[in-house]
Amino acid sequence: MDHEQAYEIGTPGQKWTAEDKAAWLAKQTVVRTYQQEVLAKLTPLQQYFDIEQYGALSYDPARFPLFVVKTRDWNNANPTILVTGGVHGYETSGVQGAIRFIETQALKYSSAFNIIVAPCVSPWGYETINRWNPNAIDPNRSFVKNSPAEESAALMQCIADLNVTITAHIDLHETTDTDNSEFRPALAARDAVVHDNWDIPDGFYLVGDTLKPNTEFQTHIINAVSAVTHIAPADDSGRIIGEELAQFGVINYATKALGLCSGFSDCIYGTTTEVYPDSPLVDAENCIQAQVIAITSGLDYLSKISKIVPHI
Ligand SMILES: [Zn+2]
Repeated sequence: MDHEQAYEIGTPGQKWTAEDKAAWLAKQTVVRTYQQEVLAKLTPLQQYFDIEQYGALSYDPARFPLFVVKTRDWNNANPTILVTGGVHGYETSGVQGAIRFIETQALKYSSAFNIIVAPCVSPWGYETINRWNPNAIDPNRSFVKNSPAEESAALMQCIADLNVTITAHIDLHETTDTDNSEFRPALAARDAVVHDNWDIPDGFYLVGDTLKPNTEFQTHIINAVSAVTHIAPADDSGRIIGEELAQFGVINYATKALGLCSGFSDCIYGTTTEVYPDSPLVDAENCIQAQVIAITSGLDYLSKISKIVPHI
């Protein structure tokens, strides 16, 4: 198996120093704006939803205020659903899919569910097309107590302050070609470790939780998404990104132990979507639609089983 190429920053065999991290940060540039592509789309939604600021990133608080969008007709007898996008800011369809879900679907489900959407957890990453935050920390490994990533800490505090039980949590992500060309080599260099290459899967897949796999829930979402985009096949060793398949299109991770966003909420039903935007078979709109149907099909599944098992 090939090893990844050396990364241009740092000294091979040594973990990054503060100077190395500063050199990495100096290379990053703003290529799109959170204001135009996210905040401007939230403004008209104020008519129908409660939009609450839960913090602001310290790097530039005026530029990076953080918001959750909540359905209005809150009913404590209904299950509460959390949708998160942009934990990895570069994963565009996660952010735009969360917004599209609010714009087109959330109201339809608001009589049966209380819905909380955090559409862009890492706005600096959104603007600079980055997986890490400016301190070279991955927010999606930082949903832990005393988090080193303020993006993760702010969202966890926001949900804790709401004092609700999260029944289901759907975290919207992408797996991209730049994972192998940029982000995984940067990670290997930062930590002075060697990664074996894995193939980037061509298609949509889900990451469930090892301890709470919720097999039927994941199957229901995979089947629904397959109507709008193709599902990633396993590689020659029966794996996706190095992990054995739990079922077609699904792998499981120990989400809480790894500090993943989908693990922090202690939800009963959790999943992380992984859209592949670099496939020749899809475009940006198709990726957004895949994210939206992943959410709505998850909610449809919960509606279906709640008729059988009240108080899910
Ligand atoms: Zn991601």
